[in-house]
Amino acid sequence: MPMEITIAVPTHPVDSFEASYVHLPSEEGSMGVLQNHAPLRCVLDTGIVTCRLPDASERAFFVSGGLAMIADNKVLVLADTAEPAEDIDIERVRAAEERARKRLLDQTSDTDRARAEASLKRSLFRLKANQAAGR
Ligand code: ATP
Repeated sequence: MPMEITIAVPTHPVDSFEASYVHLPSEEGSMGVLQNHAPLRCVLDTGIVTCRLPDASERAFFVSGGLAMIADNKVLVLADTAEPAEDIDIERVRAAEERARKRLLDQTSDTDRARAEASLKRSLFRLKANQAAGR
């Protein structure tokens, strides 16, 4: 029996479908989830949620942190932001990446630096997710 994965952000559901395997970017390290996984909650880092579907195709979603809950063959991802890899706007990512890199060269405080680093991290994972989707 496949698992059911639901991905949502605070304002709306993003997608829900059946999966035979889910890979999560947990803050404690990336983790794989197969059916009949023990109940678990984990905090998500910025990264990519990869799902293998019952027909062996794959889907990838960029997430920028959040929570994942696993129970009863259901995986619920409540992300701060989530985008299906194929919907990522690459021009926008490149612009965000450039802004972040400039800020890192021209930093004025630790707060600015942490924000720019987080922004750069989002950009790099969005690019990676989009590249994975185009394979
Ligand atoms: P930007 O500076 O371009 O807004 P960001 O990393 O600061 O990038 P976020 O705060 O992570 O953006 O996201 C704000 C909203 O915009 C979210 O709903 C997110 O899903 C969406 N979003 C951000 N960048 C992209 C992108 N490149 N393609 C599609 N949606 C995006």
